[in-house]
This record gives sequence, C-alpha cells and structure tokens, in this order.
Amino acid sequence: MQHARFVSGEVFPQPISKVVCVGRNYAEHAKELNNPVPTTPILFIKPNSAVVPMAPEFALGGEGAEVHYEAELAILVGQRLSRATPEAARAAIAGLGLALDLTLRDVQSDLKSKGLPWEIAKSFDGACPLSDFVPYQGQDMTALEYRFYLNGELRQHGQTSDMLNPILPLIAHMSSHFTLLPGDVILTGTPKGVGRLHRTDALVFESNFGVQLQTRLSG
Ligand code: ZN
Repeated sequence: MQHARFVSGEVFPQPISKVVCVGRNYAEHAKELNNPVPTTPILFIKPNSAVVPMAPEFALGGEGAEVHYEAELAILVGQRLSRATPEAARAAIAGLGLALDLTLRDVQSDLKSKGLPWEIAKSFDGACPLSDFVPYQGQDMTALEYRFYLNGELRQHGQTSDMLNPILPLIAHMSSHFTLLPGDVILTGTPKGVGRLHRTDALVFESNFGVQLQTRLSG
C-alpha cells in the first residue's frame, strides 16, 4: 500500500486510494498536442498501483514502450471532500509536491483516435512517480511555480496563474464527481514542453514552494 511522505520523512497516516488528474489544464499544452481547449475539466484517475516514489533513482515503468513525461504540481488531500466548496478544498490540503504524469503517448493517441478510453496509457504500474510533500502552510495557490529539467535542459515551467482551472475550484469540481479521501493525491495538469523519457535520463525539479528534487532513471 502506498502512502504519501513528507520531506521530513514523516509518512501520511492514510494510504493513497487514488490519484485524480486533470487533462489540458494549460492552454499552451493543449495547443502543442493539437487538442481543443476544454470548457470543463477533463478528469481521469490513476490507481494507487501507479504510484512510485521519486527516489534518487527509480526505474521507468511502461515495459519498453515510449514513455512521455508531464511534470505536474501534486496536492496531498488531508481530509475527506465530497461536493466541497473551494474554501473547504483549501482547508483540506495537507501538502504540496511534484509528480510525473507518465503517458504512453502513442497508445493514448491511437485509443483517442478510435474514441476509446485511454486508461492503459496513463494508469500502468509506475505511471505516477511522486515526490515527497511539504506541508501546506496557506500559500496562495495561484502563485505556485515549478521547473522541470531533463538532462540539464529546462523543459517545463509551470505557473499556477496560467491554469485554465485554478486549483481550489478544480479540487471542488473533482469532489463533485469523486469523493476525495485523506491520503489521495491530485495532479493539476501539465504546462507545455512534454516529451519522451529515456532510461538513463537525469531529472531535476525546482519549485517556489520548497520541493527540490534530483533523480536519475535506472533503466
Ligand atoms: Zn497530465
């Protein structure tokens, strides 16, 4: 069973039951994949079996397929939320972290073109590498920022001020479809700059909310 962890080493008591994600939450990313910008959030779920800690080294899932990264701000849910208001969503946030929404892009594109669900492209074992979290201390959720570097090159720069669905209304919306449980994780969408990972890549994450991370894929 996977539990979220804090950078202090403390383990969040309740296990992760699911990871709730949003697609196309940054207009520039929707454009780079030639997708229309949605009017309501596109939600999907990764199972807890997809979660793998972003240790200093970790193995890339996907069993040899082309795996693409999407670097995303992750939110740790601290309290049960169902049909919550944005204010209640804020009060339920336990931590801020970073994640990779790993995607088998070829598989996803093929399934999308056939009008089929693309679960297997997003929910495979290891499809959600997750950082340790910093405790949420009331930061302005519209002023968070992070950068993702691949082999020393800046690839993605996420600013929550650019989100189509700001985080608190987004969490409230998610909770109108799925009850969020303490220990659950929310991925808030990817900015532009997605691309392929290779099995010996070096990954660096920086943020303005206290999560910094260097890791290497171990094949
Ligand atoms: Zn994503």
